[in-house]
Amino acid sequence: MSLQEIRSRIEKACTEAGRDPAGVTLIAVSKMQPEERVRAVLEEGQRVFGENRVQEAAGKWPAYREAFSGVELHIIGPLQSNKVRQAMELAEYIHSVDRPKIASAIARIADETGSCPGLFLQINTGAEPQKAGVLPQEADAFVAECRALSLPVKGLMCIPPAQEEASLHFALLAKIAARNGLEGLSMGMSGDFEKAISFGATHVRVGSAIFGARD
Ligand SMILES: *Cc1c(COP(=O)(O)O)cnc(C)c1O
Repeated sequence: MSLQEIRSRIEKACTEAGRDPAGVTLIAVSKMQPEERVRAVLEEGQRVFGENRVQEAAGKWPAYREAFSGVELHIIGPLQSNKVRQAMELAEYIHSVDRPKIASAIARIADETGSCPGLFLQINTGAEPQKAGVLPQEADAFVAECRALSLPVKGLMCIPPAQEEASLHFALLAKIAARNGLEGLSMGMSGDFEKAISFGATHVRVGSAIFGARD
């Protein structure tokens, strides 16, 4: 599918939900995609990209930034403490702030450098043991903790369990964000971004539907 098609599907979903398409940011998830596909999408005008791994992002994005102006990079995958600094240097946004330890590491580095990417806190809405994020019942406290650290919390992020109806998870994330006064909702991937938009997604993370299957 082309970038153009994804854009028009986003617009249509916004119209159906009575929302302004300007309120939805398309993050093109370029992890593990060959360089020619990523370049083609950059050449089509896309500037907002998502990467899972800090190491991989560090290997690719400095060169793309030199070749294309206005790139905005979002780190969307789990962070290890020792990768936090590099992630903060590379990206404008981090969507995977998934535990207090990472939040304090970010706060420490932000104090030292005087700058910090915009942050989304990851909520494990399905309470899956193998998945990153704080549990829904810990979410309010985690938001408060991050705010107490003066972190720029923009919103919440979730990845619904693969085998469950995503709507329930999107609705839950929207509810937690609303009661915490947070506007950003990073939810929806290739298979369900239209549904996520109907539940208020402000950032959809779409990979394979734009670039094709990952090698
Ligand atoms: C890979 C990934 C995506 C994109 O997945 P697709 O199904 O290819 O659209 C979105 N969010 C996260 C956190 C990912 O790791």
